[in-house]
Amino acid sequence: MKIINLGIVAHVDAGKTTLTEQLLFQSGATRSAGSVDQGTARTDFMKVERERGISVRASAAALDWNGVRLNLIDTPGHVDFAAEVERSLRILDGAVLVISSVEGLQPQTELLWEALAQTATPCILFLNKADRAGSASGPLLEQLRKRLGRPPLLFTELSGEESRACTVRARSLSEPDFFTEAAEFAAGEDDAFLERYLSGAEIPPQELSGLLGELISKGRILPVLTGSAAQGVGVRELLDLAAAYLTPAKNRTDDQLSALVYKITHDKTMGRIAHVRLFGGAIRSRDGVTLQPSGETGKVTQVRRYSGGRYTDIGEVRAGDVAALCGLSAARIYDVIGLSENLADVRLSAPLFRVQAIPAAPEELYPLSGALAELSAEDPQLDVQFDPDAREIDVSVTGKIQLEVLTALIQERYGLSAAFSTPTVIYKETPAGPGNGFDAYTMPKPCWAVVSLDIEPLPRGAGFQYSAHVPNDKLFYRYQNHIEIAVKRALKQGLFNWEVVDLRVTLADGEHHTVHTHPMDFFLATPIAFMKGLQNCGSTLLEPMQLSRIIVPEEYSGRVIGDLVEMRGSYDAPVIQDGSFSVEALLPVSASMDYGIRLAAQTSGRGLISTRFAGYQACPPDLGQPARRHGVNPLDRDRWILTMRSAMQG
Ligand code: GDP
Ligand code: MG
Repeated sequence: MKIINLGIVAHVDAGKTTLTEQLLFQSGATRSAGSVDQGTARTDFMKVERERGISVRASAAALDWNGVRLNLIDTPGHVDFAAEVERSLRILDGAVLVISSVEGLQPQTELLWEALAQTATPCILFLNKADRAGSASGPLLEQLRKRLGRPPLLFTELSGEESRACTVRARSLSEPDFFTEAAEFAAGEDDAFLERYLSGAEIPPQELSGLLGELISKGRILPVLTGSAAQGVGVRELLDLAAAYLTPAKNRTDDQLSALVYKITHDKTMGRIAHVRLFGGAIRSRDGVTLQPSGETGKVTQVRRYSGGRYTDIGEVRAGDVAALCGLSAARIYDVIGLSENLADVRLSAPLFRVQAIPAAPEELYPLSGALAELSAEDPQLDVQFDPDAREIDVSVTGKIQLEVLTALIQERYGLSAAFSTPTVIYKETPAGPGNGFDAYTMPKPCWAVVSLDIEPLPRGAGFQYSAHVPNDKLFYRYQNHIEIAVKRALKQGLFNWEVVDLRVTLADGEHHTVHTHPMDFFLATPIAFMKGLQNCGSTLLEPMQLSRIIVPEEYSGRVIGDLVEMRGSYDAPVIQDGSFSVEALLPVSASMDYGIRLAAQTSGRGLISTRFAGYQACPPDLGQPARRHGVNPLDRDRWILTMRSAMQG
C-alpha cells in the first residue's frame, strides 16, 4: 500500500484544523467532523489547544483513500513553534499549504513556502474559505503566480464563490482545455515530453497524468485547489489529488532500519511515547532498539497508530509509515533508530530566554522541578536547572507563547500551578585575548595539585577545544583526565557567570605529588586555575542575535529603518514590491525582544515580522547583564577550598 505522510501547513487561522477534520470525515476515518469553534477538533486534543483554538503540537491522523494511506500531520502555525514545523517537514512526503482566499497571501505563508522549497517538500495549495464574503480566489491566484516563482496549475473549477452554497468541480484531463493547459505546463518542465507534444503525437491522458505526478512530486508543478473546509467543499478533490499524484520519495531503497523520532508525547499509563517516521526497515512490538546519539537502549512495548487523541495497536510499523512507540523511556526528540545517513540536518531554533519557574506553594517546589525535569527529558532545549539550596528552577524558552503552553501542560499533566518570571536573554562569554591561568594547591597538607592552563579565544561558533602536553611521569594521565573534566565543568560559569564558549584550553604544565596528592585534588585546583586564567584574558560578553524578516506596507518603511538603527540592527537592501516593503535585518535579541508587538501597534496590525536565531556576537560592554552565580566562585579561593574539601570528605 502506498503511504503518503502529508503535512497540513498554514498561517494561523487559515483553516488547517478544519480541513484536517473534513479530510478525516469525508474519507470515512471518523464518523463526524469535529469543529475548532466548538472545541471538538480531534487533532487539537491537548486541552490548551482546544481552549485557545490553536494547534500547538504537530499531531497525526491516518486515513485511507483509493487504496492509499494518507497520514495527515496538522502542524502548528505559530512562530514560537517554528521548531515543531521544521521537525514535521523532515518526515513529510508532501504538504498542503492552506491559504485563506479572504485574507490572501500572508508573510507567514511566504515563509512556510520558502521552508517547503528549502526542504524540497512537494506542495499542494488549497485556497480555503471560498464560502466567505470577501473570498477572492481569482486575484489570489494572480498574486501567487507573481510571488511564488513557480506557476500554479488550477485543478478545480469554483462556482458560487462568497456563498455557503459554493461548489467545486475537479477538472479532468479528458476535457480538451484542461488537457492542453496541463500538457503545456508539463512540456515546460520536461524536454522529452515537449518534443512529443510539439510533434503532434497522440498523447493518452494516462501518460500525461503519470508525468504530472512525477513533476508534482519533484515540486516542479504546483497544483492548486479551491474550496471551503468549513462547508466540506473541495475536500474530496484534495484527497483524490494527493492520493493520485504524490509519491513517497524519502524512503531508503534497501531494507535497512532507519527511523526518526519527530515528536514525544506523554501517556498516563504508558509514560513516554516516541512518534517516529520509518525511512527503512520495520519496528515491531517487543523489538529491542538503540537510540542515537545517546546510545540508550529500550524495548518497544506497543506500536500505535494515532488518529488525533485516539489510537489502535498495530503491532508493527514499516518503511514509509509513521507510528507511536511505547516503552522507550529514554527517547528524545530527533533521536535516530538505525541508520541516519538518509536524514538531512535538522536546523534547530535555539531557546534565547531563561525564566524562573515559581511554584504556587512552597511545598510544590520539588513536584514542579520533577515535572519540568521530565518535560526537559522530552525536549532537551528546555534545559531545566534546579538549585535546591537557592530553591530556584531555571528553564530556557523560545518565547511567550511557549511559556503559556508550558504553564498549561504542567497544569494538565501534573495538576500543578506554576508561574514564570519575566524572561531574560541568555548571554554567553568568551576570552577577550590569550592568557594563562595557574594554581598551586599545596597547602594545607595533605594535598598537591599544580595546574597551568593556556587559554585562547576561537572564532564565533567554533565551540570548545582541549589539548594536553604534559608527560605521565610529571602528571599522571588519570589526573590529566580529571583536569579535562573539571575544565568542562568550569566553562558553565565564567567571569560574568554565563557559559564560556569559543575557546581553546591547553594543559601547558602541571604536577602531582606521589605522597601528598589526594585523588580528588585536581577537581579542586583546576577551576581556580581556569578562572584565574579567564581573569587574565579578560572576558567578552556575547549576545544572541536574530535574523528578522520584516514586511510592512510601504508607507511605514522610514519608521522601520529608524527602528532597526535604534535596535543596533544591520540590514540588507530592502525590497519594495506591490506596495509592500520587506527587509531582512540582523538584530540583538535583547533589543528586539518585543519588536513584534511594537510593530503590530505602529502599523495597526499590518506589519509582520518573522525571526530566526542567528548565532552570538560580541555585546557592547555597558549593555550586557551578568548572571547570578550558582555555588561558590573558585576565585573566592579560601571559601572554595573549604567547600570542596568538606564535600570530598562528606
Ligand atoms: P487553523 O488555525 O489554521 O488550524 O484554522 P482553524 O481550522 O482553526 O480555523 C480558523 C477559523 O476559520 C475557525 O473559526 C474556522 O471555523 C474558520 N474556517 C476554517 N475554514 C473555513 C472556511 O472554509 N470557511 C469559513 N467561512 N470559515 C472557515
Ligand atoms: Mg489549528
